[in-house]
Amino acid sequence: MESTAGRWWAPGRVNLIGEHTDYNEGFVLPLALPLGMTCTAAVRPDGLVRLRSRQAPCDAIDATTIALGTAGWSELPAWTHYPLGVIREFERRGHQVPGVEIDLDSTVPIGAGLSSSAALSCAVAIALRDLFAPTVSAAEIIDIARTAENVYVGVPTGILDQSASMLCTAGHVLFLDTRDSAYEQIPFDLDRFDLSLLVFDTGSPHHLMDGEYALRRAECAAAAEQLGVGFLRDITDSALVDRLADPLLRRRARHVVTENARVLRIAEQLRAGADPRVIGPILTAGHASLRDDYDVSAPPLDTAVAAAVAHGAHGARMTGGGFGGSVIALVDSERADRVDAAVREAFASKNFDAPRTFTVTPVAGAHRLS
Ligand code: ADP
Ligand code: MG
Repeated sequence: MESTAGRWWAPGRVNLIGEHTDYNEGFVLPLALPLGMTCTAAVRPDGLVRLRSRQAPCDAIDATTIALGTAGWSELPAWTHYPLGVIREFERRGHQVPGVEIDLDSTVPIGAGLSSSAALSCAVAIALRDLFAPTVSAAEIIDIARTAENVYVGVPTGILDQSASMLCTAGHVLFLDTRDSAYEQIPFDLDRFDLSLLVFDTGSPHHLMDGEYALRRAECAAAAEQLGVGFLRDITDSALVDRLADPLLRRRARHVVTENARVLRIAEQLRAGADPRVIGPILTAGHASLRDDYDVSAPPLDTAVAAAVAHGAHGARMTGGGFGGSVIALVDSERADRVDAAVREAFASKNFDAPRTFTVTPVAGAHRLS
């Protein structure tokens, strides 16, 4: 029987390591969060799209009904551009959408670097797939969701967020090579080692990142060109980076090259079944690199990392693009409360708003609920 309605879910993500590597054709290692977007959708035969979100940033326009094929979206709230972009992409690829009713309800904090946007676009995309285009593959969904963000919203993300939301599996991190999209599920069983992964949403939004992100991409492209390679991913010997004359480009390139090496080292350790405690110092080194070489950290992020590590975390780092957003910390489960309290105290002493803390385990990626 053809499906005409249902509920779908897609998760947000944290990236364990591999920050600012995806647009350099490098490696990433995300996991899906037990926080996600629920999309309730139903076919409409009347050529209309009705969109509603419980978290719509603007209460007054929480329900938007528009005719498919409407040219101008500019007067519609910005968040509607994600689902509308997904619909447009299905249509552009030859899949007809006769009209649809979409109700959204998310537990992913918005703008916290935990990818509420990919949770939104992926949840809508799998709903449209099941309702209108059942042959569309996961790889195409990733591309549709990413294009919705890149083209229709105007955020130039790589494939990390959408791949994590679509491909992650429970109990694993996703080792993804962004050059050819090859991936591997690597066990990340924290319970077995009495470990917990804490996520601190610092509450400082990452909007400032917009211009800086484009700048970092340009700096990486310039560094790659000067080093005679297509992408910084092609540099595996970090000593080669010293050939760059410009000290700024040298620092940028050093972050990317050493970050790729860190991802590979952690993937190797976890693949071999090592106690995840051994990856802690690599996570913290990744933070230092983002802070000192890549200049994308921010005082709340540095404060959370320093407090967590000083109070017994095995490792901690900012996650996401930076300038705000979230920090992850790998801690002994029995110390989780103490580390959390230490981060809260450090925030209070600097007059930062209290962070929101989540204890997360890797869950399955996007799927249908009913
Ligand atoms: P992040 O993905 O790190 O949370 P982004 O800036 O990439 O931050 O995406 C946040 C944007 O995604 C919001 O400003 C909004 O447009 C959209 N969004 C995310 N979740 C929701 C939601 N539940 N309802 C409506 N819009 C949402
Ligand atoms: Mg996002």
